[in-house]
Amino acid sequence: MAATNETHDVGLSSWVSAANAVDTDFPMQNLPFGVFRRHGDDEPFRGGVAIGDQILDMAACVKGGFFDGVAAAAAAAAAEPTLNSLMALGPSHWSALRLAASRLLRTGSANQTAGAASLVPMDEVEYAVPSAIANYTDFYTSLDHATNGGRLNRREPPLFPNFKHLPVAYHGRASSVTISGAPCRRPWGQIVRPGADGPSFEPARMLDYEMEIGAYVGVGNPMGYPIPLAEADQRLFGLCLLNDWSARDIQGWEMAPLGPFLSKSFMTSVSPWVVTMEALAPFRMAAANRGADAPALSPHLNDPTDRLDGGLDVTVDVYLLSERMRADGLDPALRSRGYFRKNYWTVFQMMAHHASNGCNLQTGDLYGSGTVSGPSREEMGCLLEITDRGALTFELPGGETRAFLEDGDEVIFRGQCLRDGFATIGFGECRGRVAPAHDG
Ligand code: MN
Repeated sequence: MAATNETHDVGLSSWVSAANAVDTDFPMQNLPFGVFRRHGDDEPFRGGVAIGDQILDMAACVKGGFFDGVAAAAAAAAAEPTLNSLMALGPSHWSALRLAASRLLRTGSANQTAGAASLVPMDEVEYAVPSAIANYTDFYTSLDHATNGGRLNRREPPLFPNFKHLPVAYHGRASSVTISGAPCRRPWGQIVRPGADGPSFEPARMLDYEMEIGAYVGVGNPMGYPIPLAEADQRLFGLCLLNDWSARDIQGWEMAPLGPFLSKSFMTSVSPWVVTMEALAPFRMAAANRGADAPALSPHLNDPTDRLDGGLDVTVDVYLLSERMRADGLDPALRSRGYFRKNYWTVFQMMAHHASNGCNLQTGDLYGSGTVSGPSREEMGCLLEITDRGALTFELPGGETRAFLEDGDEVIFRGQCLRDGFATIGFGECRGRVAPAHDG
């Protein structure tokens, strides 16, 4: 477990009453950062800290002069329309601002009255993507996802030989990373239908989600210089939930030999709140057991601290809600539950590997973990695996069946960290509804 401090104390309570509810994602011990503004308003986006059902407005805190020194400098950076300036400042600033926000929001704070005037209710806001993302990379680091995928593609053995040697990835598309809640328009693409001689150009029929953990780079590295694995956790700002929407029929035809392209670049959704690495400290744990057959780790991916506490105990539930379920007043249906602690590579190994050739990671860059999956269908993080590429269907409450996503289907991820002796913290939601393809 990484170091904890007074901000993690399970005994802390807040004068924001909703932050003390047992089922809140945003208790005193979480304090994630996001970018928001009141909806229906022309006011600028700015950073804020989630507390219960409220947001502590960083711009209002700066105006109110609540913080001093390093924390004040960090708050000024956080008041900008993206979190990039805050992310670039590094862990001492992130930590000072977290401590100052914690002291302002906790029960007994001397600044309660002024602090209360700096809150904006969550139900009055819209969110923006938290950082200006110059680069987005998607990894492929769940052993079960890779094995299930290999089995579905009838590879023998199912795992590519590189999987246990390095965290596999491709460069994704930064411009189409979109905030939770935005509709996902069904993409058109070149598709080879079963039995067809060649491809046709049409809307994707095998539209899928991928449940992933997203990671934001705080402090990057100059080009030509790697990031040692032992330094990665000082450079990583925080984590979010990420949906790597994927059109399997487009992907199946296009990805040889260079990897996914238009089958994924049409959209990637991220949750509004970035849970900082400091907030996640109590939920660090040993990296997943690599198994007796694992090859020796390459030096740049091998660090004793990473083996000891590079793992992260984040649980993510995937819910589906169809148009008809919505009309019938049904609740979203739990489809699966994934456990990030089982991931073969840690978020720190992903960062160190990304920079290991001297590639410069930049402040605000985003990378995805790859689909978080497990061996059972209840743990699989995408429909490709759950339905064996559409061969199996499953039933939704109300009796509809699904193999892949239909228009009007909404995909909702909810993430949580739980550990005895610590407050449970949540990631909030990452959601998106499938909109019909354009007319062509
Ligand atoms: Mn993916």
